[in-house]
Amino acid sequence: MGLAGKVLTLFEGIVKGDRASLSRGITLVESTRLDHRKQARELVSACARLERPRSLRIGLTGTPGVGKSTFIEAFGMLLLSKGHGAVDPSSSRSGGSILGDKTRMQDLSVAQGAYVRPSPSRGSLGGVARSTMESIILAEASGYDICLVETVGVGQSETMVADMVDMFVLLLQPGSGDELQGVKRGIMELADLIVINKADGALEIPAKLTRTEIANALHLMVPRRKSWNPKCVRASAVTGYNLDRVWTLIQGYFDGLRLSGEWDSLRAGQQSKWMWREVHNLLMARINDDPDTRGFAETLKADVANGSVPPSVAAEQIVEMFLSSYSARQIK
Ligand code: GDP
Repeated sequence: MGLAGKVLTLFEGIVKGDRASLSRGITLVESTRLDHRKQARELVSACARLERPRSLRIGLTGTPGVGKSTFIEAFGMLLLSKGHGAVDPSSSRSGGSILGDKTRMQDLSVAQGAYVRPSPSRGSLGGVARSTMESIILAEASGYDICLVETVGVGQSETMVADMVDMFVLLLQPGSGDELQGVKRGIMELADLIVINKADGALEIPAKLTRTEIANALHLMVPRRKSWNPKCVRASAVTGYNLDRVWTLIQGYFDGLRLSGEWDSLRAGQQSKWMWREVHNLLMARINDDPDTRGFAETLKADVANGSVPPSVAAEQIVEMFLSSYSARQIK
């Protein structure tokens, strides 16, 4: 399938590594307009067909204030000094932050070789997830060999990001060991590397204690990967302490994935998961857009609420209604 017009121009710009084209491409994949979606599909498909070395896709999470922006800025600059192209194609930061990522990553956002993209501030979680995944594909086509995806340490966004990256890094603060129960523990189970950030000044000693606690907790967990046991390391985004060590650990993790063949199966599993997730999202969108089905669901609402119609039965009826309304429209 040949590309033409706007999509071809964007594609050529992206492949050349032109940042403005990459920005326009990402804006295109973030759009939900039907004509834009068609162009975005062409663009993403063309980018995915390029034979590029696999980039390291790394998710970075942690509660607000733990130092994610500071860390990405310092770590990104370190990667650049080593000749890598780092990118944050779309941080899943909640829309309301007063300071955008770009203002918080002053050096990195203007550095040659790095591209920082603030997250779309609108859209459903599923929509943001899709555009993030597609942005990664575009960034890779543009030649970036490391993709950092930032996400706040709450809610479903973690699991979604964990499904689109190869490695998940969790940032914690000194003294947060005893909070690691419940929800946070769930996030810890997704982490391949835990960084105790702010290991500097007065926080140096508490950071050591927290590292020991976390390392002990990690020993009790079943590792997610055959080729890697999750590790915990202290670092400081401000002084730069141990950032090199973090990079060495990340490389060790990827060496393991590569040598064991786990990287292939990991990516294959993710691709298929994403496909089915999209099928689900697209079907739900179609159902929501169908006035007959929506009207029918509305008539069932009261009975489902009072328990006289079981939810499972109502769901089947709604799907049947959608399918018949869909075929009726096809015949017309
Ligand atoms: P985010 O909300 O997770 O992105 O956190 P920020 O990067 O905005 O950092 C929150 C605060 O922690 C800021 O005041 C930073 O200067 C501070 N901070 C970040 N990293 C470090 C660090 O390594 N050491 C110290 N002492 N402070 C840090």
